[in-house]
Amino acid sequence: MLAVRVYGKEDMRVVDVPKPTIDNPTDIIVKVKAVGICGSDKAIYNGSNPFVELPRVMGHEFVGEIAETGKEVTEFTIGDHVVVEPISYDGKCYACRQHMPNACANLKVLGVHQDGGMQEYIKVPAKQLHHINKSVPWTTAVLSEPYTIAGNATTRGEVGLSKTVVIQGAGTIGQLSLKVAKAKGANVLISDVAQEKLAFAKENGADEIVNVKNEDLVEKVKQWTNGAMANVVIDAVGAPSTFKSCLEIAGVAGRVVPMGFSTAPVTITQQPIMQKQLTICGSRHQTFQFEPIIHAIEDNKLGDDGMVNQKFNIKDAQKAMDLMNNDPDKARKIVLLFDN
Ligand SMILES: [Zn+2]
Repeated sequence: MLAVRVYGKEDMRVVDVPKPTIDNPTDIIVKVKAVGICGSDKAIYNGSNPFVELPRVMGHEFVGEIAETGKEVTEFTIGDHVVVEPISYDGKCYACRQHMPNACANLKVLGVHQDGGMQEYIKVPAKQLHHINKSVPWTTAVLSEPYTIAGNATTRGEVGLSKTVVIQGAGTIGQLSLKVAKAKGANVLISDVAQEKLAFAKENGADEIVNVKNEDLVEKVKQWTNGAMANVVIDAVGAPSTFKSCLEIAGVAGRVVPMGFSTAPVTITQQPIMQKQLTICGSRHQTFQFEPIIHAIEDNKLGDDGMVNQKFNIKDAQKAMDLMNNDPDKARKIVLLFDN
């Protein structure tokens, strides 16, 4: 069977590998149907992901069909459609005991620490599988995982009915966070430098769009909130400048959710954090988001709506990665498919 494996910096190969087999009665083999390419996969390919151990089959956003089950598997049947949860955790460490298994001391992520979904078949433990209705197209189902990232960020930010939410960055995660925030009943302002991304956000429910290339974000948020500033600020850019402006954009008792992993230093002052009693909350991967996100997708509260705008056969993984690297603005979400 085919697998997309990264061997080193910019060395990705479509290789022939043995198909996994059922060794234990609890094993489950999934036939992968669609896998999304994420910014972190690009980082693995470009040699800038410090967590990955090479060689590695990438892919942590993937969905498929149950192909084979061990004889003790009861909750899944051959042919079931499933979304794969890429993280696994020990359930024992301090983070796990705080109900934050996404920050587990022994966290393992498919496609990073273990081989992921860019292969035709994969063996996955039952606890990492979630059913999804067969009526959901694969190219929509594959958005489940990135949607859980938005689900986690909005949960950490306590996004809710009628709250004012500012999202910085209208890339994939910014757009999905917008859609989840709207589904949760919030009012959303989204900012970016790319007008076409802002136009797409507007189509997808943004109440206000701000192009920071020619508009002052702080001023716009002030007008939009009648001076109160935002209840929640999600930074889906993760640059030093956007993190810094989060503290200005947030209003009293506001919550700030930085989503970047930049190591560049940022100069901030303590005063706004103290005076406005801000809560700055990290959001890593997701915790317990798959069930609500999948149900929202099944109920058409969350959908594709043009997010998946690039599709490639798995054999053309290199072309997909080249597009991701050379022309990222053309790719809202690139998906690799197996049956073409
Ligand atoms: Zn743990």
